[in-house]
Amino acid sequence: MTFKVMLANVRGMCQGVSRAILTVEKALERYGNGKVWVLHEVVHNRHVVEDLRERGAHFVESLEEIPDGAVLIFSAHGVGLETLTNAQKRGFTIIDATCPVVSHIHKKMNRAGESGKDAVVIGHNGHQEVIGTIGQYKGDKSRVHVVMTEDDVDKLEIDGNNAIFATQTTLSIDETARTVARLKQRFPSIIGPRRDDTCVATQERQEAIRELARLCDIIVIAGSANSSNSNRLKEVAQREGVRAYLVDDYEGIDPDWLANAECVGLSAGASAPEYVVDGIISFLKSHGAQEVVSIGQKPVNRPFPLPNGL
Ligand code: SF4
Repeated sequence: MTFKVMLANVRGMCQGVSRAILTVEKALERYGNGKVWVLHEVVHNRHVVEDLRERGAHFVESLEEIPDGAVLIFSAHGVGLETLTNAQKRGFTIIDATCPVVSHIHKKMNRAGESGKDAVVIGHNGHQEVIGTIGQYKGDKSRVHVVMTEDDVDKLEIDGNNAIFATQTTLSIDETARTVARLKQRFPSIIGPRRDDTCVATQERQEAIRELARLCDIIVIAGSANSSNSNRLKEVAQREGVRAYLVDDYEGIDPDWLANAECVGLSAGASAPEYVVDGIISFLKSHGAQEVVSIGQKPVNRPFPLPNGL
């Protein structure tokens, strides 16, 4: 069994994720091992979280688990206003690693609440980013509506002349386009981004997957099961008619997947570290990969500045 590997040049960690990880690293340097708490997984990747935990960061799911006055980092997905207020009351030293792209959406939600507009959030109900976005609405939260599909839009009861919409940043571009189109069709006066709020990193990675899908028999994506953008990459590949698998690392690969493959595509979600990709390439080489070819232009991205307090 021999095959070729095609590696998407646009893959892996985005600037928001790199910044969030660097934030935790810098905070550990500054405040010391065991002195830094992170509310929720700083990014949705098992390897990243385990690595930072080993280096002395605490990951918790509620503020109650954190001692008063501790150093607290908010994850890249962001938090709502109530969480921020509660954290301030507890006297934590707060370092906000919310991705700037998400913070921009938060500001729109703040303003919608202040001006009494209905807010429609297109996204996965229960995802940490969506919880934070809803929580940024300043006012009666019953005016915030989470939808995902066109059917959800059809059930909406809002004042379309006094409403905004925002989207989760890591959605499928195609699916979101359909939902946004239905929203604008039902509520022509609704205010929102020209297209949606999916970030450039999400868009670029999905486009790169489409290119891989044209060339390969199967696609392996490095990323954790709870990573929204990684799951969307898998779905994009599957919609293009290619077998696609999401794995935390090479140990998740079943060699049977490679049987009869002539070309195996490889990419990584926006929270997956590059050493996981390296491990997968080594695994593929030991299971028949003859060559590894990089596909697509490498993006030139400027890093986001670190949050205040570091
Ligand atoms: S995927 Fe996009 S929104 Fe999320 S952290 Fe990365 S750049 Fe920010």
